[in-house]
Amino acid sequence: MAANGAPAPPRKRRIGVMTSGGDSPGMNGAVRAVVRMSIHMGCESYAIYEGYEGLVQGGDLIKEMHWEDVRGYLSRGGTLIGTARCMAFMERWGRLKAAKNMVDRGIDALVICGGDGSLTGADKFRAEWPSLLKELVETGELTQAEVDPFQHLNIVGLVGSIDNDMSGTDATIGCYSSLERICSAVDDVFDTAASHQRGFVIEVMGRHCGWLALMASIATGSDFVFIPEKPPRVGWEDQMCDIIATHRKRGKRRSIVIIAEGAHDRELNKITANQVKDLLTQKLNLDTRVTVLGHTQRGGHACFYDRWLSTLQGVEAVKAVLDATPETPSPVITIRENKIERSNLMETVALTKSVSAAIAAKDFDKAMQLRDVEFKEYYNSYVITTSTDHPALRLPEERRMRIAIIHVGAPAGGMNPATRAAVAYCLTRGHTPIAIHNGFPGLQRHHDDKPVGSVRECRWIDVDPWVNEGGSEIGTNRGLPSSDMKKTAECFGLYKFDALFLIGGFEAFTAASELRKAREQYDVFKIPLVVLPATVSNNVPGTEYSLGSDTCLNTLIQFCDAIRQSASSSRRRVFVIETQGGRSGYLATMAGLSVGALAVYIPEEGINIHMIARDIEFLRENFKNDQGASRAGKIILRNERASTTYTTQVIADMIKEEARGRFESRAAVPGHYQQGGKPSPMDRIRALRMAIKCMQHIEDRFTGKSKDWIADDPLSTVVIGIQGSEVVFTSMGGPTGLEATGTDWGDRRPKNEFWLAMKETVDILSGRPKLTDCC
Ligand code: ATP
Repeated sequence: MAANGAPAPPRKRRIGVMTSGGDSPGMNGAVRAVVRMSIHMGCESYAIYEGYEGLVQGGDLIKEMHWEDVRGYLSRGGTLIGTARCMAFMERWGRLKAAKNMVDRGIDALVICGGDGSLTGADKFRAEWPSLLKELVETGELTQAEVDPFQHLNIVGLVGSIDNDMSGTDATIGCYSSLERICSAVDDVFDTAASHQRGFVIEVMGRHCGWLALMASIATGSDFVFIPEKPPRVGWEDQMCDIIATHRKRGKRRSIVIIAEGAHDRELNKITANQVKDLLTQKLNLDTRVTVLGHTQRGGHACFYDRWLSTLQGVEAVKAVLDATPETPSPVITIRENKIERSNLMETVALTKSVSAAIAAKDFDKAMQLRDVEFKEYYNSYVITTSTDHPALRLPEERRMRIAIIHVGAPAGGMNPATRAAVAYCLTRGHTPIAIHNGFPGLQRHHDDKPVGSVRECRWIDVDPWVNEGGSEIGTNRGLPSSDMKKTAECFGLYKFDALFLIGGFEAFTAASELRKAREQYDVFKIPLVVLPATVSNNVPGTEYSLGSDTCLNTLIQFCDAIRQSASSSRRRVFVIETQGGRSGYLATMAGLSVGALAVYIPEEGINIHMIARDIEFLRENFKNDQGASRAGKIILRNERASTTYTTQVIADMIKEEARGRFESRAAVPGHYQQGGKPSPMDRIRALRMAIKCMQHIEDRFTGKSKDWIADDPLSTVVIGIQGSEVVFTSMGGPTGLEATGTDWGDRRPKNEFWLAMKETVDILSGRPKLTDCC
């Protein structure tokens, strides 16, 4: 009862958040999202500092968190609330103290971001919870009345680990940032290796899990990789030297071997970086050096993907806490391709442990099976692109095809790695890969059966260095087949293409559509036409992800971080930053989510005077509440086509005018800088996986088929894409195909933009009021 006799208001739920085990980039994003989402949902939020140590010790290590406390968290590396390995929590007496501290502070739900050890500890805590409370009452530490409101403990796990060693999720928070550190180091080593024609053996983290080593190998085009789940076969020494010698003979000037720190042979004898180095030196006479990357792999700010993942998973964790019933098993928040999901925490941990057990039992096939499907696919794709002269992998003569590759539209990170992967796959299988240089205009330029050199067969040695190159090495162009369909058809006939692989954005999609429709006049277009989306705008129908968008977002968040820091704490400044994206607000929204923008303007919503008035008012409030060090610049993101009237400069000027000296504003346009330099590791590895899937689609479905059969098959004109939790091919033609049902041709974007639902999350986490709340 309240003092006036009215019933006391219901107790607000208190949700604790902690980071535990090894730190990983993105943990801060998770803490920020949990704190703000908890507050948004009407709960109170508590941070448990120093992992389980804080829970056991209590006192100042358990602290209520307010909205402003997590300001600026997204761009910071490590974990700002600390982490530790806590021996006391392994013992019942430690967990008893932790339980008492939680009841004392009124916390009955915990979101834990850590590895499998931390999550095991959390589940054990939950299972013991009733007995811990009973013991606390029996020993007189707490009364029955004190423990009564806390009968059930909710636990939700978030997987924070750089190793990506948790089964049941495609990615853990931190693994892509770590991969980025590794790739950037290997890229640098490449340059010096090529200059001196040296060999390098690079050791990366991963005691039981080879994810970092494998993905770094794919992303940097290493010659050989050692991972714990798939030890090399007996006689690996010769196999490795043969592969490297073959690559050298073809003209490769640099040789790189990547080795996970937990690498071993099939008898579990450790394979060390020095051992590999000695082999290369002695057997191949190669001047070889060892580089151990060590803790640099953990450090630094989180990349775009880890900010995105940790934010969305943090939001989901709070929803899971509020949905939980006493019967619900503890969930862990996972991701499958592009879909955030909830899985059973203990089943996921058990699956993870079974991988280590399979390795310990030397059952490596089982270890690979227990890893995610995606991991196995990546491994097979890597092998098939590094063993291009393996006779057993070659197809019989009659099944080989002439596969043309073309880039269409603006350059995007990942175009080159995708081309390299497709070419390597073709060479391994015996197909003929043919590059069309400078897009359709390049193709259309030839005269009277006299090729002008824009159509060329690809050699492995030419494309191999493209593994980490940005832009488009074969040249890309926005021109479409329709600008000269007759000439396009003549060239298809002249070069006898059996399939066309188009890499590009909305123009590539449009080009494939035009060619498909022109099949009625030209038989030469009755071949498989496969589109791999590659555009920073991520606006191609049929996919939630395009190559290049990750590279662009990484570049954009670096720009935003740098520009925000430039505002010293004495200057109250708002930056209105203009993003690319055409008529799609994807880039602006995703960048907004990962830099914590105060407002995002997108073409899908447009801009009106009420929105600007609301946001100026919101800025005033925001600056008023801002104290001390957190007074860095604020960011507003505006897509380049969000409004023709309210341009980036106009919005910046309006803010300045209305702020009346209390704060100032600046417009900033990163422009083509957003297309990025080298493609991000995610764009590189997905380029490989998707390009190979495209080649396999062409090979498995269409070899030996007649032109009419191909033209009648809806899957002969397709877009490959990620949709939710799957990678799928979607037909473009026909009454249900993407052209008819999935494409907003006027605005050049998909009809259903999956990310629009995330726009609300950006607003929730920045605290931006709804228009109806204020105007
Ligand atoms: P990383 O992947 O970085 O090693 P992790 O979460 O697996 O992260 P651990 O050192 O295994 O790291 O666990 C972190 C903390 O979790 C431990 O110090 C301990 O406090 C707690 N913990 C781990 N396993 C258990 C367990 N079985 N019972 C109780 N608490 C545990």
